Amino acid sequence: MRRFERANGHAGLPPASTRADGWLIAAILLVLAVYIAILASHGAEGVDALTDEGIGLLANTIPVVVCWIATVKARRMRGQLILTALAVTSSAVGGISYVIGDFAEAGSAFVWLAGASQLLFYPLILAALALLIYRQLRGLSLAVALDGVVGGLGAASMLAVVMAPALDAAATGPLTLSSLTMVAMPWLDLLVVAVVGGIAASRTLTAGRYWAVLVSGLLLFAAADVAFAGQILDGGYRVGTLLDAGWAVGLSLVAIWALTSRWPAARARATGLWPLALPALSSAAGLGVLVLASQVAVSDLAINLATSTMLLASLRTVLAFRDVGRMADLRRLARTDDLTGLPNRRALYTDVRLSLALGADGRRALLLLDLDRFKEVNDSLGHDVGDELLVLIGHRLSGRLGSKDLLARLGGDEFAILLDNAGRQEAEVMAGAIRDALAVPFTLAGIALQTSVSIGIALFPEQGADLTSLLRKADMAMYKAKATRTGHRVYRSADDSHGEARLRTLQELRVALHEDQLVVHYQPKVQLTTGEVHGVEALVRWEHPSRGTLAPAQFLDLVEESGLMHALTQIVLAKALDQAARWVLQGRPLTVAVNLSASALIDVELPQRIGAMLRARGLPASTLLLEITEEFLMSDRDRANDILSRLRETGIRIAVDDFGTGYSSLAYLRDLPIDELKLDRSFVQHMADDARAAALVSSAVSLAHSLGLIMVAEGVEDGVAYDELIRYGCDQAQGYHLCRPVPSGELERWLVRHREGSVVVRS
Ligand code: C2E
Ligand code: CA
Ligand code: CA
Repeated sequence: MRRFERANGHAGLPPASTRADGWLIAAILLVLAVYIAILASHGAEGVDALTDEGIGLLANTIPVVVCWIATVKARRMRGQLILTALAVTSSAVGGISYVIGDFAEAGSAFVWLAGASQLLFYPLILAALALLIYRQLRGLSLAVALDGVVGGLGAASMLAVVMAPALDAAATGPLTLSSLTMVAMPWLDLLVVAVVGGIAASRTLTAGRYWAVLVSGLLLFAAADVAFAGQILDGGYRVGTLLDAGWAVGLSLVAIWALTSRWPAARARATGLWPLALPALSSAAGLGVLVLASQVAVSDLAINLATSTMLLASLRTVLAFRDVGRMADLRRLARTDDLTGLPNRRALYTDVRLSLALGADGRRALLLLDLDRFKEVNDSLGHDVGDELLVLIGHRLSGRLGSKDLLARLGGDEFAILLDNAGRQEAEVMAGAIRDALAVPFTLAGIALQTSVSIGIALFPEQGADLTSLLRKADMAMYKAKATRTGHRVYRSADDSHGEARLRTLQELRVALHEDQLVVHYQPKVQLTTGEVHGVEALVRWEHPSRGTLAPAQFLDLVEESGLMHALTQIVLAKALDQAARWVLQGRPLTVAVNLSASALIDVELPQRIGAMLRARGLPASTLLLEITEEFLMSDRDRANDILSRLRETGIRIAVDDFGTGYSSLAYLRDLPIDELKLDRSFVQHMADDARAAALVSSAVSLAHSLGLIMVAEGVEDGVAYDELIRYGCDQAQGYHLCRPVPSGELERWLVRHREGSVVVRS
């Protein structure tokens, strides 16, 4: 009891309703305890029919009542719960008919009813499980499906050994309903155990918070059947032994599961090695059966099941290795600059963050390099020469650096260097050395090219505690150096012309939040296979009274720094959901995706508040998709996992934004409660002219699919990219080629034109 109540502490259900559930569960457990105590106290003496069967009736009836209560209370999974309740009812009717038949000695009518309704339990419960699986089939990957099949076969192969006598008994005797029951039951049990084992091993399939209770209940039920069949075969079954309680306990657990299935999820799914445990266990079971078969006689059925388990398990291993390899490729490709082979901006971000976090006490200097007049090289000698020059510059720079220094190409003619253990003096010395090195002419296309570079320097920790502020300051210093032609310059606060302006903007921002100056624009996400639009992304804009419409990049940093992100998130969510509700009224329901920053996710009450916002507008949770950056997911895994699980449990879907820019590992991604990956536009944009970028996108798409996730490509700017994405099997696309982010009215007009096919999508 206690445990249930505490576990529900932060959940979305009112406490009174969980308390009521708690009392029901207590009642079930109490009746079971009494029943078991009475059965156990019989010992070898005779059976007290009245008490026995009285309490037996009660123990079988309570689960039925509880199951139906659960069905009435349920908000989700209604279909499964109705089927489950029907199954439990049917089994209980069967049990009770036996008792009455026995009691009243009324004979065949009751016995017939008993057999029929006990048999009916199986198709009903299998249908409930099938529905549960079917509802989650979307995006179920081959790997996950294989895990499930391996788990199911493994469990079945073990059971086939245990139940061999019951399964073999099938063929003998005349065919009556009760002999049919005896014949069919073990097979049906085998099937139920296989399905339950499969669900357990797949890990992706879930059935509510306490679904382990359902699994235990069904396994116990099957175990009681097996024991019963064994005793019947030996001619040793007697009413009034502990075995009688087996079914009641099984059904009670199923009922408890049904009751708690609407409780929100408590904790994130297991991570680390644990997820692999069940498939491994199934393979071990299969192997065990085969080893056993080499020692003693084991049925063909068991051997066949075990062999299939092993074969599929090895296929599964191959798939797992392929995924790991893909992830490694993706990570390597994602981190290197195509042209120079140096680490790129992404790599700089991850590595510097790591370096700053690890050696927070040491000094560092960030140098930002920008070539002077590089554009002239490109314009007069062509891009090929320009590219070659960048490669050579990359080589020269690397030659100057120590083993602990970091060099990255940020893009264009910009490079960054993080000097390890360097203060102002060391940084200036290095800047001088770099300028000298680059001053030596390069020979290219038969011409001696003289280059020069401007370098801005920012010092850690005194000038900035993180890469973003260091880069910003180094950038300002670099511009100053370029403007004054001084070559290099260490940042000074006088370089920062934005200080005053920022303060004014901050003041204006507070007013903006109050006076409703924020608006939301929408950008459609197009289904690549059909061209249909089912969802949009909500993107905030600031209608500034004097500066016009401002993009998020112009104010989000400030919002974050000034602690206003929480308020902004709330405003955007409210506006986006209002709009979603209007679209429903117009008869064109669209899912809206809202971006959440890391700071918005600190708020533990977020899931509850979002739930209330959805309910207030009568919207199903599936209307909302939340986009969360990979960076946040990686920076605080436990918290991310916890809050995302709680959000997703309510039916809200989760997308990983800017995918590819972070450092997700395959195992981690796989265990995250997410639905969608949004491939960062930096990959998509280079796809058309860069074979490596194309390979990367294709590989990312198959990776997403192997994890059972939907892949959305961002930044689709032309028809070529669009067609390529179709070829790679990408699911959805978003980008200027289709539609820019626009106000809702404009989006509605675009949707009409798009549906009429007048919007050109293909190239
Ligand atoms: P994002 O989540 O990656 O959003 C996609 C951005 O890419 C949008 O920029 C969109 O206008 C832009 N975009 C879409 N298609 C193309 C294309 O084909 N080419 C190019 N070059 N760009 C394209 P926007 O609206 O300026 O938003 C920038 C970022 O600001 C967003 O990036 C998101 O991280 C953040 N943001 C926007 N709205 C919100 C919000 O309400 N809350 C929070 N926390 N962040 C927001
Ligand atoms: Ca986004
Ligand atoms: Ca994005």
